[in-house]
Amino acid sequence: MGEIQLSHGGGGEEMNALIHDLFYALLGNETLNAAEDAALLHLEGPVAMTTDSFTVSPLFFSGGDIGKLAVAGTVNDLAVMGARPMYLSAGFIIEEGLAFDDLRRIVTSMKSALDKSGARIVCGDTKVVPKGTADGIYINTTGVGAVQRAGLSAHNLRPGDAVIVSGDIGRHGAAILMQREGIALQGDLKSDCAVLWPAIAALLGQSVAIRAMRDATRGGLAAVLNEWAVASNVEISIQEEQIPVCSDVLGVCELLGFEPYDFANEGTFVLAVDAKDAETVLETLQRFDIGEQAAIIGRVGEEKPGRVILQSAWGSRRYLELPKGELLPRIC
Ligand code: MG
Repeated sequence: MGEIQLSHGGGGEEMNALIHDLFYALLGNETLNAAEDAALLHLEGPVAMTTDSFTVSPLFFSGGDIGKLAVAGTVNDLAVMGARPMYLSAGFIIEEGLAFDDLRRIVTSMKSALDKSGARIVCGDTKVVPKGTADGIYINTTGVGAVQRAGLSAHNLRPGDAVIVSGDIGRHGAAILMQREGIALQGDLKSDCAVLWPAIAALLGQSVAIRAMRDATRGGLAAVLNEWAVASNVEISIQEEQIPVCSDVLGVCELLGFEPYDFANEGTFVLAVDAKDAETVLETLQRFDIGEQAAIIGRVGEEKPGRVILQSAWGSRRYLELPKGELLPRIC
């Protein structure tokens, strides 16, 4: 099997072989392998559910690929809602001609991200479309998780709360942009794409007052903070020099006129917590690879409700606005 052919999505022998030799072999579990029309799940208590479609270009990028992105993106959305990722569905739309080795690499990445999250794929779908009608592969993943901590919400921020970012910002957007534009910098800029559940599980295991968590994906840090300021009708003021940004991301921004706050992240999240718990949250995050650069970047106020204010190291203040237009299509 060198390339995916239309017959691999035809519902016949070739599709059966693909499903058994690849999907069941790598992602298999009792529920998936039962191959019923629907997965039968056992759930008790409140459940979180999310869905996302992944169309990233290129399919393979520094620090990840579309498979890792699909699993991480979905389980992270569950995790930041305080839910333990449990079950995922995976729908694949594959372009005729995709190299079988590429598909195997992608599914292998999904497997490794699933293992980190504790979730399993329990149902799936494969379609193959003729050459030229898709770009390699698109993946849709839906996830279900058991809520461990209820009440986390963008509407919950209160004046006095601390705002924390779990790591340095902008690496996913910058890495994709560099790869697409063929820009080479001196450093080794990798996407931050990562499964956040282990770090978030540790936070949820502590008695810290977390108001809200959100992964800073499309729209970056700027979008999360603006959405929170509006939803909670508070001011959020941020100290620019406290925001961790690596030198390569700053380099890309200077070169192309972007701001790191607008760039997408795929393994970095923002938290609003009661100020008394800020140090505990920070110390917990810093125990994990994804949280080494975690920092308290600002606080919630009440002066200008709905606005985010960025304070520079020199004392100047400006509004941090929502990113405008389409910064970068097909980033996730
Ligand atoms: Mg999200």
